[in-house]
Amino acid sequence: MAGRPTTIIDLARLSLSHGEGARLDLPVRLEPLELGGQTYVPRGGGLQVRLDLSRPSSGFAFRLRFPLHVEGPCMRCLEDAAVETEVDAREVDQSDTDDEELRSPYVVDDELDLGRWVHDASILALPNQILCREDCAGLCPVCGEPLNDADPAAHEHDTAPDPRWSKLRELKLE
Ligand SMILES: [Zn+2]
Ligand SMILES: [Zn+2]
Repeated sequence: MAGRPTTIIDLARLSLSHGEGARLDLPVRLEPLELGGQTYVPRGGGLQVRLDLSRPSSGFAFRLRFPLHVEGPCMRCLEDAAVETEVDAREVDQSDTDDEELRSPYVVDDELDLGRWVHDASILALPNQILCREDCAGLCPVCGEPLNDADPAAHEHDTAPDPRWSKLRELKLE
């Protein structure tokens, strides 16, 4: 079915012999990503990924590539932010080994859980801080207003103290 998002790849049905490879270009549905207490969604709701498979020996080697564009709140000021990056991830899965390094967590019973891999690879590809702009000034620690386009004079709260805080200041000065 063309255009229908794929999440599971049945490896047995590809019937690749040793030394053979295949390339699949697939639409994949990406669930919203939870990062730093915020939620990020792919632009347009879906992704187009390229999956290269090969059978070097017993098992599979995979390479997953796709452009990732997500949108959500800036982690400092909560205004709109977007990230654009390229994901390039690899996995190996050797079937007859006890070596955990050679088993892929995304392969179970000859099925590749592409949806989960795409999700995890997306999270790994995103920066720790998603910001509306690199030098985002965040929110004023006193009044909570965004500082990016604010007049700095408007946030010199010491010269114009909020009356609610004056009592506290008096206490501190004692
Ligand atoms: Zn920001
Ligand atoms: Zn302020």
